[in-house]
Amino acid sequence: MNNKYKILLVEDESHIVNLVKALLELNGYKVISARSYVEAITLYASYIPDLVLLDLGLPDRDGTELLAEIRKQDSIPVIILSARGDEAEKVRSLDMGANDYITKPFGSAELVARVRSALRHSYQIGRASSVSDGVFRLDGLMIKYDSRQVFLDEKEIKLTQTEYNILALLSEHSGKMLTYSAIIKAIWRECCSDNSKKKLQVNMANIRKKLGINPGESKYIINELGVGYRMNGENR
Ligand code: CA
Repeated sequence: MNNKYKILLVEDESHIVNLVKALLELNGYKVISARSYVEAITLYASYIPDLVLLDLGLPDRDGTELLAEIRKQDSIPVIILSARGDEAEKVRSLDMGANDYITKPFGSAELVARVRSALRHSYQIGRASSVSDGVFRLDGLMIKYDSRQVFLDEKEIKLTQTEYNILALLSEHSGKMLTYSAIIKAIWRECCSDNSKKKLQVNMANIRKKLGINPGESKYIINELGVGYRMNGENR
């Protein structure tokens, strides 16, 4: 295989580098690894990767500085490798343009699924969840953007304007984690009071109910507590 996706792994912990590299290579990706900000900048320029896996705790600089550099010139997917429990950091990096994050320690299946999903979202490879002719499909869910209609297993679901807008927004960014504030800004053009967050939660609960998703179930829409929502980019 010559035409492999190139992934730049920016991480300073050797055991994670070895593990992630082996795992991704096994799944058909080419992996280039950098252990510092400086090394990453050089390799980024010479290899032009298709995706970046980025640890935020680098020895020479903060990983978010690399994210900012990448976003100045490029929209390629960036997935953050983050320590557990640091919600503020996750939100900040997502709002700076990261596509997703994975919390350490992560399972190998999860890592591969996130990488595949981010690449698919960016490059529209595969047909698992995709938009064609103004129609979005994910498993039994179908959204017709032109007529603003939503169908579940061919049956039309009646959503309010706001509910539809939220669902359409998530579907347009499927595979990408959207923070609460990013969704609130896009839907209500205001910023992030407790009140607007509550409005979002109420709407999301109604959407989930209408889509027949049980409480706690991760179907179509994933809620990462304290961070935001992601529409499932994987077809399961
Ligand atoms: Ca580190």
